[in-house]
Amino acid sequence: MQTNFTPAQLADPHVAESEQILRKCVHCGFCTATCPTYVTLGNELDSPRGRIYLIKDMLENGRPADAEVVTHIDRCLSCLACVTTCPSGVDYMHLVDHARAHIEKTYKRPFMNRLVRAILAAVLPYPDRFRLAIKLSSVGRPFAGFLQHSPALKPFAAMLALAPRHIPPASIYAAPASHAAAGEKRGRVAILTGCAQPALDPGINEATIKLLTRLGVEVVVPEGESCCGSLVHHMGREEQALASARANVDVWTGELEKGGLDAIIITASGCGTTIKDYGHMLRLDPAYAEKAARISSLAKDVTEYLASLDLPAQMPKGVIVAYHSACSMQHGQRITMAPKQLLKAAGFNVRDPAEGHLCCGSAGTYNIMQSDISEALKTRKVRNIEATKPHVIATGNIGCMMQITTGTAIPIVHTVQLLDWAYGGDVPEKLKDLPLA
Ligand code: SF4
Ligand code: SF4
Repeated sequence: MQTNFTPAQLADPHVAESEQILRKCVHCGFCTATCPTYVTLGNELDSPRGRIYLIKDMLENGRPADAEVVTHIDRCLSCLACVTTCPSGVDYMHLVDHARAHIEKTYKRPFMNRLVRAILAAVLPYPDRFRLAIKLSSVGRPFAGFLQHSPALKPFAAMLALAPRHIPPASIYAAPASHAAAGEKRGRVAILTGCAQPALDPGINEATIKLLTRLGVEVVVPEGESCCGSLVHHMGREEQALASARANVDVWTGELEKGGLDAIIITASGCGTTIKDYGHMLRLDPAYAEKAARISSLAKDVTEYLASLDLPAQMPKGVIVAYHSACSMQHGQRITMAPKQLLKAAGFNVRDPAEGHLCCGSAGTYNIMQSDISEALKTRKVRNIEATKPHVIATGNIGCMMQITTGTAIPIVHTVQLLDWAYGGDVPEKLKDLPLA
């Protein structure tokens, strides 16, 4: 694509990067076929190609964002299916990151929209606030029907619909500690405990720590970890996201220098995509660029790390698992085979739902801010999953788990919980009542 940025504009490294990205797009439109919003809405401006044009026009003319750009960029899930599909290697992820930051700086959103976004940014990244918000949701639940009918208040209705009715007690495994390897030690890793995940399903990190230590890996939960910054990053709140990234880089660098680390284990693929991008996010910060790149190179999804441990094959269990590949797993991190291969080797009968490339509609805060599109995508996803007639659904991202579980009665667990069970751990709590357990 031809661009016409001035030298003065290109002096801004963010603009210079976006220009390079834009120039790679050849308008072929292959990406439209796999874009969930285009598939759902059928509007070119809700396709990757349409959004690329809007972003180009906004940046090239040095304009503040307007309502049209904001509407179509806000509808983008950042699922990155377009990046997987694009034959020209267009780095849409960093282009839309730049567009979101530009929107945040130059566009004044309507009051209620600003309020909802401010609440999400102030609550979700902090586990204690998040737990409190879930507890308080029972007070608001009777008003959900009323909230649903006002466009400005609809996000609150979506929050109430997504909030679980019960939250498990905090796990002792979330506390800073070093969990020793059982038997001969074969590695040392740090684990990101996360923000929303330990509140919603502490069993995921527990299963990870128990499985890894049983396999001979020391697992450290470092003191001072914060949210990875992904949620605010996707809202265009760059400074807040960079502050989280810097804090985590400091914590993990300290741990690295103290006892060495083979990997930083991440159990939510949405966080994994962002942490693997810390090197890029902090590339312009001389104090952090090198450290952040080192941390990104150590970041591993738990299934990526387990695949390197060469686990022994297990007897078939007769359990049918529909594997839902989160967008951040398959498109963001390009991890497609490892989770399924691990599950198969662990004795599970793994099935691939149709249209696996399409997002479930979760996408961070998307299911709150864009609840209608999110709902349509969830319905489509659940239909495809249920068609495989599974006993259980497995995935590697808490956001997808919370989204899909509101649309089906089939239990959904994290892949690592099934692997922990297969390699000597307890039956996952959600499967205890099923005849297969
Ligand atoms: S597939 Fe790639 S090159 Fe083609 S229109 Fe989409 S982003 Fe541009
Ligand atoms: S990130 Fe996903 S929703 Fe956004 S343009 Fe690409 S394919 Fe479409």
